Amino acid sequence: MSKIIRKNELSFKEYTEGILSGNRSVLSQAITLAESTLPKHNALAQKVINHCLPYTGKSIRIGITGIPGVGKSTFIETFGLYLTEEVKRTVAVLAIDPTSERSRGSILGDKVRMEKLSVDKNAYIRPSPTSGSLGGVAQSTRETILLCEAAGFDILLVETVGVGQSETTVHSMTDFFLLLKLAGAGDELQGIKRGIIEMADAIIINKSDGENVKAAKRAKVDFNRALHMYPAKRNGWSPKVKLASALNNVGSENVWTMISKYAELGKSNDFFEDKRATQNQFWLTQTIEDSLKGEFYQNETIK
Ligand code: GDP
Repeated sequence: MSKIIRKNELSFKEYTEGILSGNRSVLSQAITLAESTLPKHNALAQKVINHCLPYTGKSIRIGITGIPGVGKSTFIETFGLYLTEEVKRTVAVLAIDPTSERSRGSILGDKVRMEKLSVDKNAYIRPSPTSGSLGGVAQSTRETILLCEAAGFDILLVETVGVGQSETTVHSMTDFFLLLKLAGAGDELQGIKRGIIEMADAIIINKSDGENVKAAKRAKVDFNRALHMYPAKRNGWSPKVKLASALNNVGSENVWTMISKYAELGKSNDFFEDKRATQNQFWLTQTIEDSLKGEFYQNETIK
């Protein structure tokens, strides 16, 4: 990891001023610094993040999951461009991919995957950290969220391919959780694990186009029925089902209207902040446990 950091490392002042003025290149370097496992980088990264903290928290954090092939990158490209062009918001795209299936070539991979969004001056795409356990990747991603917010991004899209516990991880760091699905395939076929549907604030049935439209409409009815069987969410939100065709640019407006309503509702009854406070507590406990564990195993006597 450390080797990606440029030789002439930036100073604390250069990092913080660069980030707060929205400088992309400095932001990227700061994220790389935060991802580094070298203690020296870590200490500086923590200092930078602490300085940025007062400027964080203003974005809407949206988690996106679904099996490979469901259309996540296509959806993020379409939805992201809708947000930058129509809603006039800035968008940062992050990913959690602990197995690093897309590792190494992932920077190129993500750029190719989101061809237009990657050159949009109002968007920023950061590939998943390529090394480390889910815990490590999760921590870096949380820090990346904070850095992107300090750099002024309005909307964060956090994607996961949904391997292992990664959906739960993304769910626990985002305000709104989107599950992308396909019509006509059973849950087993879609590799949907128990609990994922329960976590979803909305299910998007993608590829609702051409011959799929009929099946998609049927699936919408089925999912709506299935969602009613889950207990209501604490914030009073009942999960929605929406149709989309990411490929044909259909559905973005509906999805955005829904998420805006959710944010409004959450802000009016304080649930938005409550949820974040709960998430922060969760991550604090997690961080303490991770560091205690780390110290335990690194202890010479124990070794
Ligand atoms: P990911 O693996 O979930 O990121 O899926 P991709 O975005 O790479 O999409 C997988 C394939 O599905 C690609 O060939 C896309 O062109 C196609 N695809 C994505 N969205 C749609 C859609 O809305 N309709 C149709 N017909 N194809 C789509």
